[in-house]
Amino acid sequence: MFENLLKTLHGLSETSAISVPVSTDCKGYIDKECPKEGCLFHFKVKAEDWTAIGRGAMVTCPMCGHKAHTESWYTTDQISEAQGQAVASFQGAINSAMREDAQGFNSHQSRNSLVKMSMSVSGASTSYSTIIVPIEAAEAMELEITCEQCATRFAVVGSAFFCPTCGYNSAERMFDDALRKLEVKISSTEIVREAIERASGKDAGAIAAKSMLESCLPDGVVAFQKLAEALYMRLLGVRPASTNVFQRLADGSDLWKRAVGYSYEDWLLPNELSRLRILFQQRHLLAHSEGIVDAKYLSNTNDPNYREGQRIVVVKQDVEDLKRILEKLAQAMRAAVAK
Ligand SMILES: [Zn+2]
Ligand SMILES: [Zn+2]
Repeated sequence: MFENLLKTLHGLSETSAISVPVSTDCKGYIDKECPKEGCLFHFKVKAEDWTAIGRGAMVTCPMCGHKAHTESWYTTDQISEAQGQAVASFQGAINSAMREDAQGFNSHQSRNSLVKMSMSVSGASTSYSTIIVPIEAAEAMELEITCEQCATRFAVVGSAFFCPTCGYNSAERMFDDALRKLEVKISSTEIVREAIERASGKDAGAIAAKSMLESCLPDGVVAFQKLAEALYMRLLGVRPASTNVFQRLADGSDLWKRAVGYSYEDWLLPNELSRLRILFQQRHLLAHSEGIVDAKYLSNTNDPNYREGQRIVVVKQDVEDLKRILEKLAQAMRAAVAK
């Protein structure tokens, strides 16, 4: 991505001083973008933490784990600004390179649906624009993270698995981040809905808000599963847990019972456990049957709110319950492992 432009800019910068301008946002973060095709993940790093990494050092993509030198992480916006600066003096040389890159960019769209980007190059006079729609939606969903290993401060929209500076990841931090992310999603649903409504219409806004709340179920369940696996494996003398066992509440609970003598029944109140069972099963429906209620769901949960063939609806209260109950369960598991 941007190979042609970067090549052209690089050639130009041999003879003159063209640099990619980098501005910080109001919290002091600078924007970065994963250079890997198919990822292109957007994130931010505190300006002074980025400077501390030093030129030529390796940086890790928080999302995909791709590693590349510090010079490789410019965003489309920054490249665009660089082009804007350069265009006055080097209009012709850049135009064709930009055009080729824009074509490549537009054919490689595989993004988080909440941060849609498009760009166009038109006319003989280079007119180039990068549009992020809608920016306030992305900002509302931003999650600030401090690496517990190296103290680098970075911010992401969505999940982050790796620290950009040291590459560290841990199931424990991911779980805590995931719960914070649920909170962010709950509190920014309306902002996102309104922003997308303004940009793309009422229906698009409603769909975005709905899918945002629904995405909280897999976010919470997967983070819990990873945490449970990691904690369980710390127990002495246990055999490795089978894949996805902690996605199934009853099976996961049995493992803990055998290993430490306590099960989810001991750690949660009956109404909390039945609520959690419903939310886990709804996550399963979303993943495997487009959210359509089937007989198995009803027999597993005794959920009185649905009949077979109906589509589940995820509301804020569901996400709040999921967060609260998972937090309680995780605390009990952590205490059991610490003993
Ligand atoms: Zn990446
Ligand atoms: Zn780190």
